[in-house]
Amino acid sequence: MNILINQIGYMPEARKVAAVRGGLFQNAEILNEKDQAVLCVPVSSEKTSIWGDEVSYADFSELHVPGKYVVKIGDERSYPFEIAKDVYGKCLTALVDMFYYQRCGCDLSSDIGAFKHSACHMTKARVYGTQEYREVSGGWHDAGDFGRYIVPAAKAVCDLLIAYEWNKKAFEKAGITEIIGETKWELMWMLKMQREDGGVYHKATCASFCDMIMPDEEKEEIILSPVSTTATGDFAACMAMAYRFYKDADGAFALEMKNAAVKAWEFLQNNGAILFKNPAGITTGEYGDDCDQDERLWAAIELFRLTGEKKYEEAALSMIGDFDFTLAPLGWADVSGYAAIEGMDLEGELGEKCRQWVKTAAESRYKGINAYGIAMTDSLPWGSNMDVSDDGMLFYCAWKLTGDEKYREAMHKQLNYILGVNPMGYSYVSGFGTKCMRYPHHRPSIATGVCQPGMLSGGPASGMMDPVAKEFLQGKSAGKSYIDDHGSYSTNEICVYWNSPLVALMAAVKAE
Ligand SMILES: [Zn+2]
Repeated sequence: MNILINQIGYMPEARKVAAVRGGLFQNAEILNEKDQAVLCVPVSSEKTSIWGDEVSYADFSELHVPGKYVVKIGDERSYPFEIAKDVYGKCLTALVDMFYYQRCGCDLSSDIGAFKHSACHMTKARVYGTQEYREVSGGWHDAGDFGRYIVPAAKAVCDLLIAYEWNKKAFEKAGITEIIGETKWELMWMLKMQREDGGVYHKATCASFCDMIMPDEEKEEIILSPVSTTATGDFAACMAMAYRFYKDADGAFALEMKNAAVKAWEFLQNNGAILFKNPAGITTGEYGDDCDQDERLWAAIELFRLTGEKKYEEAALSMIGDFDFTLAPLGWADVSGYAAIEGMDLEGELGEKCRQWVKTAAESRYKGINAYGIAMTDSLPWGSNMDVSDDGMLFYCAWKLTGDEKYREAMHKQLNYILGVNPMGYSYVSGFGTKCMRYPHHRPSIATGVCQPGMLSGGPASGMMDPVAKEFLQGKSAGKSYIDDHGSYSTNEICVYWNSPLVALMAAVKAE
């Protein structure tokens, strides 16, 4: 496929540009469902080299009429796409429903078809290195495995709440459950992960990954890995942030979160960095991190926003100068971008610094945008589609802050890349697009033989970090270091915190 379009489609007023590779073509025709040409546009004569492709463009933005179309150039046709006002409605719903499918400790035996299972992981968890047991049922399975980890959970919850706050109207018809109710499921679990002294256990998993089975078939002992200050900082930030979403409708729950956040902050004040490494005998996802300053900063900003208390503002101001303003990552390891975007609306010096940070970081990412519309070059990290979606969120913030349309367009480019305008010609969301991800590294999809819809693949990763990637991706360029295979966990796993920024990005585009 050499004509790359967003395989779901476009909103009527959106910019619509096909990336075209190979051949020397002059014109592109847009055909409707009756195969009639409704528009003819030039293919740009300039080509840009990227990842082994020579890319030019066909801009058909002037087509606004709702309908189903293909782009035809020479004898080749693109995959079909749609132009419609609510073109992303079904996909956004599926992306949100994914969190319900990922529920742990919940009887999902009636309403999710092939993926039904009884309440899983209900036994008490043993605190690592002790004979103490705690009840920590609930939450979401993190990814293609059934572990539950605080650090990525905080990112996922924050993204979903932000997505909802930024663009409520995008969620009018969302999902089996409302987004706020779904997020509460995870928050309730997170509360159980806090120790009496305020510290938060890093994760609740079995000692190792299980076979490709359904969640209720995993019966090994659940172990609570030791407390870390990265988990505790993320927890404090997340709980403090979540307060404002529940305070009116669910006051008691909101207050519980506020108290938990303050307690977690006190733990951080009483302890230096406790960085997490998998302890002996535990081999599940580590979510290790060599720095907890960004988690502390995010927590300080959220607690200041929540309470208005000077001590949090002073703590944030004392730390914020140490950060590189060209970077505002919205990752699970470096969460400093959440500090920046959550502090944007604050008054005074702290708010000014946060706004400056968002602008500087967005401009730095914007300058790095390549011929496929994303800010990446010769190496792509594990979970690169998360970075693309995160950049979409950052561009959204910069657009809202500055009013500069170039950021809005950049935001659209991130979504178009995810849904088909990429060197693989894939829609990286299962169930959406003609050529979409079908073989995710996701135990329920493997166990049932049915690909669960509405999941974002991690996408190309240039490091060849699993046996399938090593076997099949040797010599591929970074943007093509992807294989749609159950075994390629480094390029084709799914995660709650990869879906979550895509929810925020798609909602932002959909709400326009
Ligand atoms: Zn479970």
